[in-house]
Amino acid sequence: MKLYNLKDHQEQVSFGQAVRQGLGSNQGLFFPAELPAFDNVDALLEQDFVSRSTAILSAFIGEELASETVSQMVGNAFQFTAPIKPVKDGVYALELFHGPTLAFKDFGGRFMAQSLAAVSESDGKITILTATSGDTGAAVAHAFYGMDNIKVVILYPKGKISPLQEKLFCTLGGNISTVAVNGTFDDCQSLVKQAFDDAELRKEVGLNSANSINISRLLAQICYYFEAVAQLPKEKREELVIAVPSGNFGNLTAGLLAKAIGLPVKRFIAATNVNDTVPRYLQTGNWTPEPTVPTISNAMDVSQPNNWPRIEELCRLKGWGLEELGYGAVNDEQTAETLREMEQEGYLCEPHGAIAYRILNEQLAEGETGLFLCTAHPAKFKEVVDEILGKDIDLPAPLAKHNAMELLSLERDNDFEQLKAVLRSVQ
Ligand SMILES: *Cc1c(COP(=O)(O)O)cnc(C)c1O
Repeated sequence: MKLYNLKDHQEQVSFGQAVRQGLGSNQGLFFPAELPAFDNVDALLEQDFVSRSTAILSAFIGEELASETVSQMVGNAFQFTAPIKPVKDGVYALELFHGPTLAFKDFGGRFMAQSLAAVSESDGKITILTATSGDTGAAVAHAFYGMDNIKVVILYPKGKISPLQEKLFCTLGGNISTVAVNGTFDDCQSLVKQAFDDAELRKEVGLNSANSINISRLLAQICYYFEAVAQLPKEKREELVIAVPSGNFGNLTAGLLAKAIGLPVKRFIAATNVNDTVPRYLQTGNWTPEPTVPTISNAMDVSQPNNWPRIEELCRLKGWGLEELGYGAVNDEQTAETLREMEQEGYLCEPHGAIAYRILNEQLAEGETGLFLCTAHPAKFKEVVDEILGKDIDLPAPLAKHNAMELLSLERDNDFEQLKAVLRSVQ
């Protein structure tokens, strides 16, 4: 597989390099130089999730990895389902929260972990260092847990993530170390940056960021769009509209890639909260990010979505006009109102999925079938959901289990020397 840097098309890398490096020069994103074509998508849709996903990912990765290797990676990564559920007539939810950390990030995170293990030099050390404000850290921790040749260090701001989230990834032990930093999320991010800027340290412990722009994540996410369509009754597949709750726009990029390689999708809708840089851009043609506003759909509190250049590139290559993309933005009050409406319909949702559901309903035309992505389990946002619905929702088994375990985090100050000592001690 060849990929090029969107900031410098001359810089070309293999899948392995793109996975190891994450970003190209000038922080440029990597993009596939060729998109595979499937002439018989119906036959592909007939296959089971793991076989079909192996076929799709092998077609992208090409000869660089044997298809048995890809098959093993997919089998290890996708050990849970992505079911669709009817919510009301002609509208379905795609539930992407049945993995170990109850959010769609498990798909990308786990395939990235498998990819990194597959393409790393056999004798090299790898230490994954990342900062998190919640979801990403949990997905990364669980994805790499038990891979003994890879150490993981995750920083988070002490007391600033929900206790439930903290329990989910700070109770694992083994090759996963978590550090509660006396500081803010920005402090954690700048500590990570300092570590990557320290060439000597980077080499000594084999630093890798495994961050959200890694191409392996996006490729993995293509697979559940196919899985959703495969579950739809055949007569509902032709006029399909998919609404995607979006923050950094990786999920939507994967959906558009699925369409680009042949998945029948009539239209996508980019759904955001009030951090609406993209909806405003699609409406006015002006890219004018505003300061980020905190909302109850906080995984989408992003005003500079880092995957957007990939969407522009894909549309350019396919000759798709940006005006073909649907869009909409929803505030907290409307999100709460929609959650209550959905409960009336008999479907318990959480804020991110509810935003997509609302905009989908507003824009779905007669004769179209709607699908919206449920990116997290409602219990992951228990405080908010309980308050809006006046309920006390149950914790699903993985959350309940971790909630009862002891926290193993180290506590450190916002101090680079202390971080260095941690990175050396986990080797
Ligand atoms: C990360 C996340 C999103 C946003 O996904 P992007 O790919 O960044 O657009 C939406 N919902 C939840 C629950 C998330 O964790």
